[in-house]
Amino acid sequence: MDGAGISNAMLLARAGYAEQFSELRAKYPGRYLGWFAGTDVTSPDASKILEEAVKKGAIGFGELKSHVEAAGPELRRLYALAAELGVPILVHFQEVPHTPTEGTFATGFKTFEAMLKAYPKTTFIGHADAFWANVSADYANQEAYPAGKIARGGVTDKLLGDYANLYGDLAANSGNNALSRDPQFTPDFLKRHQDKLIFGSDCSCADGKGGGVSQANNPGASRLAGKCVARETLTLLKKTATPQMFRKLTWDNAHRVYKLKSS
Ligand SMILES: [Zn+2]
Repeated sequence: MDGAGISNAMLLARAGYAEQFSELRAKYPGRYLGWFAGTDVTSPDASKILEEAVKKGAIGFGELKSHVEAAGPELRRLYALAAELGVPILVHFQEVPHTPTEGTFATGFKTFEAMLKAYPKTTFIGHADAFWANVSADYANQEAYPAGKIARGGVTDKLLGDYANLYGDLAANSGNNALSRDPQFTPDFLKRHQDKLIFGSDCSCADGKGGGVSQANNPGASRLAGKCVARETLTLLKKTATPQMFRKLTWDNAHRVYKLKSS
C-alpha cells in the first residue's frame, strides 16, 4: 500500500479472518476500513460460514471464486443471503482457465442479467476476467484477456447501465486490461459508470512497485509482470478521469457501496 501510494484498504479475506483483522487494525490504526469474507461456495455450510463471518464483522461476501455456474444453486442461495443480511457480494467470473488445471469460475456471465433481475435487492460486485472481457460485444470466451479495440455495446457495459444493483471492481489484470486495451473507449466508459466502478488492487507484488512474484503465477497476465497492478491502474485512472471522478472511483463509491467508515 505504501509503495503504490494507497492510504486505506478494504480487504478481501477468508471467512475466518475476524481476529486477524482486529490485530491488523490495532497495528495500523486508521488504515484498514473493513473486510469481506470468502469461502468455498460448494460447501454445504457456505451460508452458515458467511453468516457467521458477518456476525463477526465482515461487511461483504467475497471474493467468491468456485467452480460453479453463476446462475447455479450454490451461488443463488448466497445472492439471497447477501440481500437478507444487507451486504454486497463480490464474484469472480472466469470462462477461460489460465493453466491446464485451473478450471473456470462462476460461468455464464453473458446471461447474468437473469440473476440481476431475480435478486433485485442484492448488491453485486462484478470482478475478474469474464466480467471485464465482456465490456466488448464481440467477446466469445476465446481468451482470458482479449486485446485491442472494444466493440461497443458489450454485456458488462449494458448491465452496469441498466441495473442499479450491479457494480464493477476495477481490480487485477482483468480490470486493467479492460481500461487500457482501447484508449478511445475508456474515458466515456468511466464517465458513464463513474458511480458504479470501484478501484481495487488484487496485486501480489511485495512492494507496490512490482517486486516479488507480481503476475508470475498467471502466464496470461505477463503484460503486467514486474509491475504493480494497483499502481498501473491508479496511474491510468488519474490520467483518464477528472479529479472529481477519480475520487469517486477510488474513494466515494467504495465508501457508499461497501458502507466503509473512515475519519
Ligand atoms: Zn479474483
